[in-house]
Amino acid sequence: MSGAALSVDGLTKRFQDIVAADELSLEVAAGSFTAVTGPSGSGKSTLLHLVGAIESADGGSITVDSVEVTALRRKKLSEYRRTVGFVFQRYHLLPALTALDNVIAPVLPFKVGFDKRARARELLDAVGLAGRERALPAQLSGGQQQRVAIARALIGRPKLLLADEPTGNLDSANGTQILDLLLELRDERGMTVLLATHEQHIAARCDRLIRLADGRLIEDIDLTEGEPPESTLARATQLRL
Ligand code: ADP
Ligand code: MG
Repeated sequence: MSGAALSVDGLTKRFQDIVAADELSLEVAAGSFTAVTGPSGSGKSTLLHLVGAIESADGGSITVDSVEVTALRRKKLSEYRRTVGFVFQRYHLLPALTALDNVIAPVLPFKVGFDKRARARELLDAVGLAGRERALPAQLSGGQQQRVAIARALIGRPKLLLADEPTGNLDSANGTQILDLLLELRDERGMTVLLATHEQHIAARCDRLIRLADGRLIEDIDLTEGEPPESTLARATQLRL
């Protein structure tokens, strides 16, 4: 197995005359937690959308776990999308559904090899919302709604979690708690995480910081200071979560 969970090569995306991703190249190690930073409009969301195949690239390639995502079509592409968890700044919960049903929603139409309700309960428990399964989004605080959204992102057992400014709508204390939760989930489940943020106190706690400007990668800093990364994959295998 190669160390790179995600490999991006010469990735380009244009919106009319704007180049939102400009020949981006990047390798991300399995089980690592990378902050994607840069000012508004620098291409953070575009990178995450391209990696999650929410948008299609104009050029270059994205490879996830040895599968070239940019070459996938139709059925294979929708299968790939289901293996990636996505967390948004504004939670995007369905307002008429309970917390539990929101968590189940992504896998509802599909045959999966697990009990959907049981797993959704377990995930709500893992994000600190045991007992709130029947609450509607409007009955939950912003931080709690983001916890539901994180549980929902995990229902398909993603190896890759993409979080686009997940703390951007929260105050600093709630934002810190959400980051703590994501770091803990990464450690327990061995996921690879890409988190877009323009908040320095959030980025500083990640393993690695990449900075974008005008769709280009202008800085790439290892924040682990030479410490060997913890064996998150080995632990996740033991826990089988
Ligand atoms: P960030 O997330 O860093 O704020 P984005 O990836 O959202 O940056 O945007 C990068 C650039 O692409 C910006 O100039 C933005 O206006 C443009 N852009 C993003 N999405 C679209 C779109 N759907 N249509 C037109 N322009 C877009
Ligand atoms: Mg954005």
